Amino acid sequence: MSSSAPASIRRVVAVANQKGGVGKTTTVINLATALAAAGHRVLVIDFDPQGNASTGLGVEPADRQPSIYDVLTGEETLDGATMATQVPNLTLVPATRDLVGAEVELLEGERRDQRLRDALFDGAAEAEFVLIDCPPSLGMLTVNALVAADEVLVPLQCEFLALEGLSHLLHTVDRIRRSRNPDLRIRGVVLTMFDRRNNLSEVVAEDVRANLGDTVFETVIPRNVRISEAPSHGLPVMLYDWRSAGAQAYIQLARELLERYERDAA
Ligand code: ADP
Ligand code: MG
Repeated sequence: MSSSAPASIRRVVAVANQKGGVGKTTTVINLATALAAAGHRVLVIDFDPQGNASTGLGVEPADRQPSIYDVLTGEETLDGATMATQVPNLTLVPATRDLVGAEVELLEGERRDQRLRDALFDGAAEAEFVLIDCPPSLGMLTVNALVAADEVLVPLQCEFLALEGLSHLLHTVDRIRRSRNPDLRIRGVVLTMFDRRNNLSEVVAEDVRANLGDTVFETVIPRNVRISEAPSHGLPVMLYDWRSAGAQAYIQLARELLERYERDAA
């Protein structure tokens, strides 16, 4: 490993939930953009073979070389695979379908659960925030992300049984904390796709807050059509329609996150 230690202020945040469609990728793209707009240097690592974070940040499949797969196999350094995006201060390590293979190949390799951690130690020294967009499973990719991370941010969709899958994730986080990464912490749970017109959203939100207390961010991400339209334009919602309720909610989430860090430091 190289001797260049990562900047001490760098925070590696895994955005994880083994359920699909809960808003992980949306949160990564838009939280990263809001942090970048606030003047922070942010690196997004697309860690899902579906490559939705790469798509949402406007990087075409043909331009996703080298990718995070090449980093995991040791063919490329993290810095070598990092590319600029159209958002100032925001860089990306893209993902391709190859990453499906990594899930299997990582089961056999050396230091198999620490590949991403090793790669991060070696590079990305520029970024203040590294956001990892995890795939919808608790397989080797998510384990690699959790071993590499300082903290976990969990998007939770405001729907029936939202809390059910969460215990699996928290259990996995506990296991990794005990075995590999003692300082790993839950940064927070963010309620997504909150629908004001649907009473269920309110009931779920109250239930989640009653169970998890102030682990849950005060900021709630509303269900907002602009958020869902933006990725097909390859744009974060702030660039697609910054006045939208969705864009404003992610700006507010970034603000609240930064406040939490300030409180920690105080
Ligand atoms: P995950 O990464 O957890 O699978 P996504 O972020 O891809 O979830 O979100 C799943 C789908 O829901 C996507 O089509 C996305 O555009 C849409 N979506 C996510 N958040 C919102 C929201 N707040 N309002 C409306 N649509 C949303
Ligand atoms: Mg996703």
